[in-house]
Amino acid sequence: MQRIKVARLIPILLAMLTSACVTVGKHDTHALQTLDFGPEETLRVCLLIDEGITETRARDLFQEVSDELALFDLNVEIPWVRPWKRPAFLMNGIIEEIALRPLEPPCDRLMAVVGRHVGDFLASWLAPEILGAVETNTHTRGYVVGKAVTLNQLLQNPSHVAVHESYHMLGCVHGHSLQACYPYILDLKRIARANREKGNDFFPGISLDRQPITSRETTGEILRAAIGRSM
Ligand SMILES: [Zn+2]
Repeated sequence: MQRIKVARLIPILLAMLTSACVTVGKHDTHALQTLDFGPEETLRVCLLIDEGITETRARDLFQEVSDELALFDLNVEIPWVRPWKRPAFLMNGIIEEIALRPLEPPCDRLMAVVGRHVGDFLASWLAPEILGAVETNTHTRGYVVGKAVTLNQLLQNPSHVAVHESYHMLGCVHGHSLQACYPYILDLKRIARANREKGNDFFPGISLDRQPITSRETTGEILRAAIGRSM
């Protein structure tokens, strides 16, 4: 049973690893004004920073995320920022390395802020550039490119990308309107609060079939299984 479940993850993981981000859609201002997202919950995002990215730069990027998610009474905290070396040139290699890292307390999400080098500039002329991604098996780990150096990034600057990826961290998918995602965010906040009241202080991840994942260890198990079987 478990084996079948894990096998089902693989094609979707691969799809996730090869699809670029487009848009999560525009806000529905009427729905935003009429829905009550309170009370406040906290999402703790731990950051890994590549060479060429300062801690200040990374914190500033995620301040933009914090400002955006304040719309939903969701407070973003950065428990720590640690140095990290980009492990691969392309998205697949980057996201696999991050996906295999443990999600240690108190982190609810683990995001890397990737630096740029001259190869990125050259590659951006040859293929669509992937400026950020979040894995879809648990929606707990991902990355954003933290520095604008290419033409593509004039259109999608790093703070836009960080905000976009933050919606994926909440399980939102690409679409025309963000409205479809508001109920998910409400639900996640409700589950996060219920868990915390029972002593489990973890803002849940989200599985491929949109079920909440309520332990950090389980997110790691799911990702190790999915990546191990795709190699
Ligand atoms: Zn996207």
